Amino acid sequence: MKLRIGQGYDVHQLAAGVPLVLGGVPIPHTHGLKSHSDGDALTHALCDALLGALSLRDIGYHFSDKDPANKGRNSLEFLRIVMEMVRNEGYEVSNIDVTVILEAPKVNPHVPAMKQTLCETMSIRLEDLSIKATTSETLGFVGRREGISVFAVALLYKVTESHAGL
Ligand code: MG
Repeated sequence: MKLRIGQGYDVHQLAAGVPLVLGGVPIPHTHGLKSHSDGDALTHALCDALLGALSLRDIGYHFSDKDPANKGRNSLEFLRIVMEMVRNEGYEVSNIDVTVILEAPKVNPHVPAMKQTLCETMSIRLEDLSIKATTSETLGFVGRREGISVFAVALLYKVTESHAGL
């Protein structure tokens, strides 16, 4: 079986009075993530892991922050398009593992809703997406509550022949 692995990483700055959206789920909080799009760093890292697995560049290459069409855009739309690209290459998701590093608010209570939303968007099974949350123990920019970091790893397997021969 042909397998391909990809990793994704994203950082966004926290800002007061901005809506917080993570994994496609709005989370009530005093601060949100500054961005040209909706700032959903989890979904961005996930997109980059999927793109990386197929050597299809990165999220900024496909959805430029210079493009007014992407301003305030729901990141689930990026994910839906990226999954189309994955399937166009003849690949399917084996599994995805995500780590969110954020000091506050607590991410864990929102993980079931995030998994539901993201798995529906990607048309994959709930058990094939893992979302883990941790803090930075007050250290660094995450620890100072200035921002968020997200890491994602995606493993894909080939289901059909693709034109690109990947
Ligand atoms: Mg981003």
